[in-house]
Amino acid sequence: MTPLPPNSTIGILGGGQLGRMTALAAANLGYLTHIYAPEADSPAFDVTRFYTCAAYDDLPALAAFASSVDVITLEFENIPIATLEYVQRFKPVYPQPTCVEVTQDRLLEKQFAHSQGCNTAPFMPVNSAEDLAAALQQLSGGILKTRRMGYDGKGQWRLTGDEDPAMLWWNIQQPCILEGLVDFACEVSVIAARGIDGTVVCFPVTENAHRQQVLHTSTVPASISTATAQAAIAAATRLINALQLVGLLAVEMFVSRSGDVLINELAPRPHNSGHWTMEACQTSQFEQLVRACTGLPLGDTGLLTASAVMQNLLGDDATHAPLLQNPNARLHLYGKTESKPGRKMGHVTFLTAQHR
Ligand code: ATP
Ligand code: MG
Repeated sequence: MTPLPPNSTIGILGGGQLGRMTALAAANLGYLTHIYAPEADSPAFDVTRFYTCAAYDDLPALAAFASSVDVITLEFENIPIATLEYVQRFKPVYPQPTCVEVTQDRLLEKQFAHSQGCNTAPFMPVNSAEDLAAALQQLSGGILKTRRMGYDGKGQWRLTGDEDPAMLWWNIQQPCILEGLVDFACEVSVIAARGIDGTVVCFPVTENAHRQQVLHTSTVPASISTATAQAAIAAATRLINALQLVGLLAVEMFVSRSGDVLINELAPRPHNSGHWTMEACQTSQFEQLVRACTGLPLGDTGLLTASAVMQNLLGDDATHAPLLQNPNARLHLYGKTESKPGRKMGHVTFLTAQHR
């Protein structure tokens, strides 16, 4: 495919920080962006030539948006599939709606991983109090997760197995899965990119530490063996190829105490655990997404520093001054006006060695 020429417009569905950083990367490559999001205070609206503030089921607004752009991508995987299919009538959508559909549902996602020969935590579908009772017994407790719409630990309940399933189900009443607890050595992720021509490039494996089920730090290189790193990259490559996904696929994984890789979650978009690529990699994950969906060649993903640590700034942690005194800190604030405890307000990447 001939790449989209400079001054073409990339439509982005979703207006959060991932859309904001994608729009900035698009601008660096000479593209315009048009952000479509329902929230009036979307952080991405501040950095784009065009934006539409409308609901995901507003067909006239979607039609006007899709007609005004050259290609469409997304920064949020829970955009309704009907919305993606509708805008696809006008312009190509990368990643394709069929890929996004798999990643919207934890059950489909896990079944897909198994279909590709990847392992996951043990899991059982839960659609009733009876299912929940049976699953709690079989898996000896675990984490109950809604199949859809969960993020940052929302829609999840840690269970010991001693709870009353009828009472729990009364409060939940939506399709779930119960996952057995994995006694992992560490958590890692791999962000894979696939171009329109089918080329796949992966970013180096990142090690992720969570606090209260929210990502706290991402570190490269991950403290895992070469064999485990190769297995993680191979799994991400297999999954993105099997989906034939154009764009980015972020693959969250658990590394077992014996070094095996288990797939936790898939996200068809830039990922919080890849923010360090902005300063510590030849190509950032945001630029890579822009390259993938405009038909440009994918960028090199080699490291520019010996190591890097990204830390999320949540709620009132997002203060500038002390961080800016550290010459190795690279600060990104997302321009969110309302700070709430636990809300992702920005991030900082510490480069632990000088650029080459
Ligand atoms: P995010 O949006 O941050 O990716 P999420 O709400 O989609 O989070 P998960 O990725 O499923 O949820 O879980 C969040 C974190 O909770 C995981 O990164 C891990 O630390 C812990 N966790 C989830 N499932 C399990 C499990 N089966 N065993 C052990 N820990 C788990
Ligand atoms: Mg997760």
